[in-house]
Amino acid sequence: MSKRPLREAVGAALNATSLAPDNTRETPIDRVAALSRASRLGSALWRLKYGDDVTLLTTAAELLANKARTDSRVRELTPYTRVGRRPELLLLICQYLIGEWLQDNCNTCGGRGRTGLGRGGIRGIGKLCLSCKGSGKRRINGAERGRALGVTGAAYWKTWHPCFEAIWTLILEADTGAASRLRAALRRE
Ligand SMILES: [Zn+2]
Repeated sequence: MSKRPLREAVGAALNATSLAPDNTRETPIDRVAALSRASRLGSALWRLKYGDDVTLLTTAAELLANKARTDSRVRELTPYTRVGRRPELLLLICQYLIGEWLQDNCNTCGGRGRTGLGRGGIRGIGKLCLSCKGSGKRRINGAERGRALGVTGAAYWKTWHPCFEAIWTLILEADTGAASRLRAALRRE
């Protein structure tokens, strides 16, 4: 029996009305229980993105900011010295990046990686999307990121980009870390 993809299955489980256990198969209650094996940040991010629990945005941003404060890869970056002295600025960057992560599909192709398709088109047909070069992921918009900080796009690329990327990496690590802990807990391959 094929199983729903992990993130989708956990998202549905978080909103399931029935949490009845069943020893013979993986049920929503198993998935919700398995989520407790993830880190606090990983769990908050999953509930936020895959379970659509928007009330967790602030919590997730605070957990991410805490992680960034203690992560040596972030701390050794020059802009971090400025951010480190201004906790509200670090929190703002974390909130902003989580917002990007929640909506990470390419604006042009909607995440399909191809263009020239109507809604509901099949992936793999149409022309390669030039915006994302087929990855389906949104390209970094330095001007937009700069605006969130109150600086120009040029200043973003010159000074802030490494700091954003290091924090972005923490989000991806928390996401994949949660996936591997859940796979182990649910005995999925
Ligand atoms: Zn695209």
